[in-house]
Amino acid sequence: MKLTYYPYTLELKQRFTISLHSRLTTPAVMVEIEQDGLTGYGEASLPPYLYENQQSVISFLNKVDLKQFERSENLYAILQYIDEIEEGNNAAKAAIDIALHDLAGKILGVPLYKFLNIPKRDGLYSSYTIGITEEESLKQKIKEALEFKILKVKLGTEDDRKIIKLIRSLTNKSFYVDVNQGWKDKYFALDMILFLQEQNVILVEQPLPMLNLEDTAWLAERSPLPIIADEAVQNLDDLEIIKNIYSGVNIKLMKAGGINKAYRMILKAKQLNLKVIIGCMTETSCAVTAASHLSSLADWIDLDGAELISNNLFSGMKIYDGKIIIPEGPGLGVKKLRI
Ligand code: MG
Repeated sequence: MKLTYYPYTLELKQRFTISLHSRLTTPAVMVEIEQDGLTGYGEASLPPYLYENQQSVISFLNKVDLKQFERSENLYAILQYIDEIEEGNNAAKAAIDIALHDLAGKILGVPLYKFLNIPKRDGLYSSYTIGITEEESLKQKIKEALEFKILKVKLGTEDDRKIIKLIRSLTNKSFYVDVNQGWKDKYFALDMILFLQEQNVILVEQPLPMLNLEDTAWLAERSPLPIIADEAVQNLDDLEIIKNIYSGVNIKLMKAGGINKAYRMILKAKQLNLKVIIGCMTETSCAVTAASHLSSLADWIDLDGAELISNNLFSGMKIYDGKIIIPEGPGLGVKKLRI
């Protein structure tokens, strides 16, 4: 098997602002694994808060020697080898994991969801993210989101109530709220959630700082809306820590370290009676499509990452009328659009 990779910078259609930071681009590293004339595609997307960057991913990938493996049917042996090269590096590992799954599906001629034995459910809705923004561009974003039935609204500012009131003056759609750890005080957070409950909000993601489990437990006990962990859960072990505190968890391939680990996290979360959002970073259709093959296992889907970038390198999962259409493979079912 031959591994190649190159850095790629995702250009965002609009400045993307959340409570922690603001950016116009997301660095990424694209991965390709070839065997018998077939190519598996993978991607590491590297938003700044995940502590990986293009250099760290490339330096990790430099250590990977796939020549020792004859055929990609040894998928789980290869994934274990990758995992043991070095701790962490989850996005780098996700890139290889996605490419290997794509290749394995292509070799067998089946779509990824079938390869994983996941039943397919049609008609699942994805949300569309509205970042923190000025009034005029907020109006623009709501217009752009026309075909989406559910929004995901980023909060965590002094003006949160104003933002919600403005959105409510423009649309009646239901939405998720993602605070990205932006509320610092539990009383303020509870006040906001009681207000949001009246605004057709479905759930609240990461309202308080990820390390503040005590206040999060206090808040979750009193909250009429489900409180979902995102930053607070990076891997399988974290699920045990948060299981009695949060109502659910946002699982993303880049955090988990790829399809295999994300799949295991979803099963574990369900076992622990946690709800599951399948989410993504700003990503090309390569990684977003990979995640879409897991989506029938989730309670809520937030896979709009490729909609937010202007230089998508792949076609793959589509969104029609707010519903996701998972390609029929083989593998991920993505096509590379440019060289
Ligand atoms: Mg989040």
